[in-house]
Amino acid sequence: MTSQEIKALTGQYIMNTYGRFPVAIDHGQGATLYDPEGNAYIDFTSGIGVSDLGYGCQPWVDAIAKQAGKIGHTSNLFYTEPPARLAEILCKRTGMSSVFFANGGGEANEGMIKLARKYSFDKYGRGRAAIVTLNNSFHGRTITTLTATGQDVFHNYFFPFTEGFRYADANDLASLEAAAGDDVCAVMMELVQGEGGVLPLDRDYVKAVARLCAEKDWLLLVDEVQTGVGRTGSLFAFQQYGILPDVASFAKGIAGGLPMSGILANEKCRDVLGPGTHATTFGANPVCAAAGLVVQETLTDAFLEDVRAKGTYLRNQIEALDLPCFGATRGMGLMIGIQVKDGWTNKEIASKLIENGLLVLTAGPSMRLLPPLVISQEEMDQGLEILKKTLS
Ligand SMILES: *Cc1c(COP(=O)(O)O)cnc(C)c1O
Repeated sequence: MTSQEIKALTGQYIMNTYGRFPVAIDHGQGATLYDPEGNAYIDFTSGIGVSDLGYGCQPWVDAIAKQAGKIGHTSNLFYTEPPARLAEILCKRTGMSSVFFANGGGEANEGMIKLARKYSFDKYGRGRAAIVTLNNSFHGRTITTLTATGQDVFHNYFFPFTEGFRYADANDLASLEAAAGDDVCAVMMELVQGEGGVLPLDRDYVKAVARLCAEKDWLLLVDEVQTGVGRTGSLFAFQQYGILPDVASFAKGIAGGLPMSGILANEKCRDVLGPGTHATTFGANPVCAAAGLVVQETLTDAFLEDVRAKGTYLRNQIEALDLPCFGATRGMGLMIGIQVKDGWTNKEIASKLIENGLLVLTAGPSMRLLPPLVISQEEMDQGLEILKKTLS
């Protein structure tokens, strides 16, 4: 099909819930994507932080094909090897103790919220179930994770929302203490607010929250759906913040492009969710887990160091271009935010860049870059050249 035919068919039969850019993607190689007509696009998005190994990665393709040929799905009533091996690696590399696998970020965060409420119910009984989240956060699109999301624009249409959420300002411990009370069981946060605009939390603040949580027996829930799996230059962002959360969620990059997510619990929380308390039909899918194993094999310590170096390179080069529409950059690793100066709108900038062959994202009022972690020097430089040519 041509791009035009794909767009027309989509418009007719798929619900119009997304503001799409006018590009159809057919295939890719490395960090370069191609439309059906063969036009190339440098990818600074990795499908919103998902395709960390880029496109056409042969070990990933082979592992998926091999596992699909053996068994594609069994249900969690039986055992399979790939998710067990993936869970072992995730625990050993993070110091966490157990994993529950799900399918998407919002679903993983639902599991994290359920775990926190059950931990508190088991120990203290009913009435201690409130969760404090941060303003400007994003936690998902289910009713409960929409409620957890600390942005009023998301609290619309779908009333009634879930009870038991309160909001505090990021990097403000007093605001968190004011929002909390005797009925709190957990604090939930992203360490770099992704959809909110790529805003890393202060290290001292995060450490202070971790101390307060330990003191009050509130669970510290870290949403690493976007920051996890190497994106920030460590396997999880919490490893760079020097904390061990009680529970951390992951999703986007975990299987390099197949739908998979989950939560990691520390020793204290490893057995909170027992038989019959939580489940999902597609969870721990062996094909997705086999893909996840290839991601883990790729993300060695040296590879992660390279992710940090690439992030620094891109940020330095972008700031050196001194483009009229861009202010300072921020972020961690290959999760990069760029301030958009007054008088410019990020969506228009994104449209122009995409027209010129560079795919980028927006977040809040800013630009957001999430290139595949495997992006080559040449592809980074091609992308920078398009930025310069388009926006100078
Ligand atoms: C993307 C995202 C989610 C939602 O994940 P889905 O897979 O779209 O449900 C939740 N939290 C954060 C931090 C995210 O970036």
